[in-house]
Amino acid sequence: MTCDCCAADDWRPLFSENDIRLGHCSQCDLHSIEEIPAGDVRMTEMEEGHYAGTQQVLDARRQLAAERVLTERFSRFVSQAQRHAPGGAWLDLGCGGGLLMQLAQEAGYQAEGIELNNERRQIAEEATGAPVHGAPVEDVAFPDDSFDVISMINVFSHLTSPARTFAELRRILRPGGVLVMATGEITEGARAHHMLNWNLGDHLHFLGDRTMEQYAERLGLTILEHERRWLPDEMFSREWLTVKGRSPVKNGIKTAIRVTPGGLKALRAVMLRRQAGSAAHSGVFVIAAA
Ligand SMILES: [Zn+2]
Repeated sequence: MTCDCCAADDWRPLFSENDIRLGHCSQCDLHSIEEIPAGDVRMTEMEEGHYAGTQQVLDARRQLAAERVLTERFSRFVSQAQRHAPGGAWLDLGCGGGLLMQLAQEAGYQAEGIELNNERRQIAEEATGAPVHGAPVEDVAFPDDSFDVISMINVFSHLTSPARTFAELRRILRPGGVLVMATGEITEGARAHHMLNWNLGDHLHFLGDRTMEQYAERLGLTILEHERRWLPDEMFSREWLTVKGRSPVKNGIKTAIRVTPGGLKALRAVMLRRQAGSAAHSGVFVIAAA
């Protein structure tokens, strides 16, 4: 398999989940599943809200309710963008029910969104009164230099070719504009038990240790900020207990833990021990066109 990031042909397997193999490129450390689906197949899956994973909320109304607990986290993305590009046009890729678009609007930006799922797209349009496009960014044909800020929150892992998407974002980003990206990162030695569920198949790619630097070098981008948090620590949090998934059983367990005094503390004690040494992290990048 030719690497999306560095074009090397040296993919090395790490582990499997649900018969899907995850491996990484020996040259740039991009982690990818063994068989990346074709772009048009992927488009249909995203449109229909069909995800291989179990944590993704299928029902769009429940998705919106779940997003409300993310307000605090998303507000930090707005603050980060404001430090570099304090106003202008903001594009949110994979905008879901439109929460980040609303926060950008409140901060004075003119927001636009992209959302491939039809039901969520309608909710985002109603919530923001702003245009929300239903096609991949490469197909929308935005003019050059269209946006001051582009956000891509938990989208990178779903892209069939991140290099292609980054190149397009660079084209439509204004000089001085920034891309705010949050995504999973994997440091050396990932094992299957490092995550409860990697959602392989839904997740196609994860950044490795040196990967984003290599994308940046190849595509003419500059990394302005990069912060990395250990995922188990971030995951087993009150926020995670509040966000509901598609499994009623899991939702019930989460609620039980949340309302039990000391429940979260006990859960963390167990899970952080079980996932000690986990290579899974969550990263936030602020990136400019070089
Ligand atoms: Zn590579």
